[in-house]
Amino acid sequence: MTQPDTHVVILGGGFAGLAAARGLAGSGVRITLVDRENHHLFQPLLYQVATAGLSAPDIAYPIRSIFQNRPDVTVFLGEATSVDLAQRRVSGPQGSLTYDYLVLATGGVTSYFGHPEWEPFAPGLKTIGDAQRIRRHVLSAFERAEITPDTSERKKLMTLVVVGGGPTGVELAGALAELTRHVLVNDFRHIDPELARIVLLDRAERLLTMYPPDLSENARATLEAMGVEVRLKTGVVNVQQGRVDTGTEVIEAENILWAAGVGASPLTATLGVELDRAGRVKVGPDLSVPGHPEVFAIGDLAAVTDVDGQLVPGIAPAAMQMGSHVARIIREDLDSSKSEKKPRSAFDYLDKGSMATIGRSAAVFKAGPVKLTGFLAWTAWLFVHLLFLVGFRNKAVVLVQWAWNYVTYGRGARLIVRPGQE
Ligand SMILES: Cc1cc2nc3c(=O)[nH]c(=O)nc-3n(C[C@H](O)[C@H](O)[C@H](O)COP(=O)(O)OP(=O)(O)OC[C@H]3O[C@@H](n4cnc5c(N)ncnc54)[C@H](O)[C@@H]3O)c2cc1C
Repeated sequence: MTQPDTHVVILGGGFAGLAAARGLAGSGVRITLVDRENHHLFQPLLYQVATAGLSAPDIAYPIRSIFQNRPDVTVFLGEATSVDLAQRRVSGPQGSLTYDYLVLATGGVTSYFGHPEWEPFAPGLKTIGDAQRIRRHVLSAFERAEITPDTSERKKLMTLVVVGGGPTGVELAGALAELTRHVLVNDFRHIDPELARIVLLDRAERLLTMYPPDLSENARATLEAMGVEVRLKTGVVNVQQGRVDTGTEVIEAENILWAAGVGASPLTATLGVELDRAGRVKVGPDLSVPGHPEVFAIGDLAAVTDVDGQLVPGIAPAAMQMGSHVARIIREDLDSSKSEKKPRSAFDYLDKGSMATIGRSAAVFKAGPVKLTGFLAWTAWLFVHLLFLVGFRNKAVVLVQWAWNYVTYGRGARLIVRPGQE
């Protein structure tokens, strides 16, 4: 089954794009994988980099290295800015590429619900750059609080607001509580980091709305026991430099972190096809773009309903399963082009469970009827996350670092590196 002239272009080397490229190994097609970053990023652990628990290289790996033994894969560092479906061409500032098959896997972006002007004051967490910026800003605020003689300024510097009570917001708030209550606790002479105020806001009635209510309640109680103020049914009406307005209160906070919304990669808007409200491509059952069987949209930029009619969540395992599915379809297409055409199979999502960590030895986990909380859930979380660190050779490093942090409450990645000096 060799089709040396078939060119598959994959845009995005995230979970979905990598799974597609891996699934096409040995198929004989020529693959070009384009990503605007030179690394694959394990986003589920970004909050650890933002809160000084891990360093950037612990959770990112050069895409070029991942494919160093795959001569069929060419990796380009570049940004795709438009797709011309009629001409079968992808373009960007670095040039353009034509394709026989196109796999769109450029993921999502942080969404500010129609208020992009809030972004400079409330950074989101999506890239290594975001995580490093947050870490620098959080640690610098404590340094400035140690120096300032002004009590109200000190209070503001030591207030951190996390907007959004989904898994990322819960993980961030928990990790910030640990950072201030345990890691920084003995480091300062004029301030007591334990008195830092950490507020988690969400307009919903409970945290982690995608989990059963008892797990949401467990997460809320655990965070409150760690010293986090959890404010539910509290939306945000305005964000300015160092100020969050909830409509009933203005919170003065040097650090405001946005974990509230996700939208699709802006690339989808150039396709001229139907999108959902978040800008995701409404794909067919086989994950192809309607009217274009040679183009697939997968991962966070696709709105997918699987064979059971269930909406597929925007999480890493779903993105990987979609990548594998598309690879299988392309293989079957190439096989059947020699014989009789077979109908394409529909994507069938296998829910292996989901989990969110809250802090040191606390997490929530659900898989079908199985629900776990506390240390058991945290152990499951740790195991799964290490397992999925895409064959990174630094898996062992991450494990040792975690174990060390766990025992000592240490935070080796606590350096403040000024912008431009990284
Ligand atoms: C902070 C955070 C925590 C998360 N925690 C979890 C978790 O605990 N468990 C879980 O399962 N999921 C989690 N997720 C969700 C999970 O990371 C996503 O569902 C998954 O990454 C989606 O995979 P993807 O391949 O669609 O997109 P991504 O992994 O985002 O990959 C997209 C790739 O496309 C590249 N790209 C983007 N635009 C362009 C362009 N124009 N041109 C070229 N390249 C481009 C990007 O650089 C990136 O490499 C989390 C996400 C975040 C942000």
